[in-house]
Amino acid sequence: MTAANRVNLAPGLYFLATPIGAARDITLRALDILASADVIAAEDTRTLRKLMDIHGITLDARPLIPYHDHNGQAQRPRLLAALADGKSVAYASEAGTPLIADPGYQLGRAVSEAGYQVIAAPGPSAVLAALTVSGLATDRFFFAGFAPNASGARRSYLKELKEVPGTLVFYESPKRVHKMLDDMVTVYGGDRQAVIARELTKKFEEVMRGSLEALKEALKDRTLKGEIVILVERGEKEQIDENSLEEMLLNALKTDTLKDAVANVVEQTGLARRQVYQTALKLGKNT
Ligand code: SAM
Repeated sequence: MTAANRVNLAPGLYFLATPIGAARDITLRALDILASADVIAAEDTRTLRKLMDIHGITLDARPLIPYHDHNGQAQRPRLLAALADGKSVAYASEAGTPLIADPGYQLGRAVSEAGYQVIAAPGPSAVLAALTVSGLATDRFFFAGFAPNASGARRSYLKELKEVPGTLVFYESPKRVHKMLDDMVTVYGGDRQAVIARELTKKFEEVMRGSLEALKEALKDRTLKGEIVILVERGEKEQIDENSLEEMLLNALKTDTLKDAVANVVEQTGLARRQVYQTALKLGKNT
């Protein structure tokens, strides 16, 4: 028995989201598309075959094409040729939503540049599942993907994101999580609140919350396994004292009009315009 219906699909490339753990998290529409597409492509064909088997979808005579980062360039013409023949092509990455720290970006671009339709069948993604359980603000967030492997590059990467006014979301491997927490404490300070969401939707799902320092301490003797998302609460703009504000304004006033200097400093500091303007006027009187 299958929950999937065979449907008439319009020609185009269908990006399918697939489960990040629980197999039943696939949408009914994604099942319909898997049951009906003329051509199926997958980052990992074995994983997709398994998912199709679980949901009682047979491949029959349809081609199942591997498409991943290492063969994308060679495989794109084949998928484009199918679209040129008026076929429907379904693509799934190994888990979650294609393109989100997964292959699909180059394919989507090539398909839309060639003038064919790109269609989303949305569903699971670890970034959204992790935000949902985190308890951190979700009105604004920044998806930072995987940080670089080398420590220096990782710290620079973290620094760049220090003042982003939204929750930061990182994908991480269990092998690197301790180093990542060390670097986060160094760059963001130990007090910032964070969440580690592990194995979401799976048997050993675990969500740990606390300050970065507390999480680092709690995990220091533990080997983590499975798939991990780290979330960090939004950063505050650094406090600017009156002396630094005056210095910034004096610098800006060397080249800018008063109005432009105030606008530039407001943008750099995030301070209220009124406060910056008052200080600028005071400086104007004293110089
Ligand atoms: N495209 C996927 C998505 O939409 O989430 C992400 C693919 S990326 C190669 C894999 C990373 O996603 C893992 O290293 C982990 O950081 C995160 N991830 C995937 N499944 C997860 C899960 N069940 N629980 C926690 N994190 C998960």
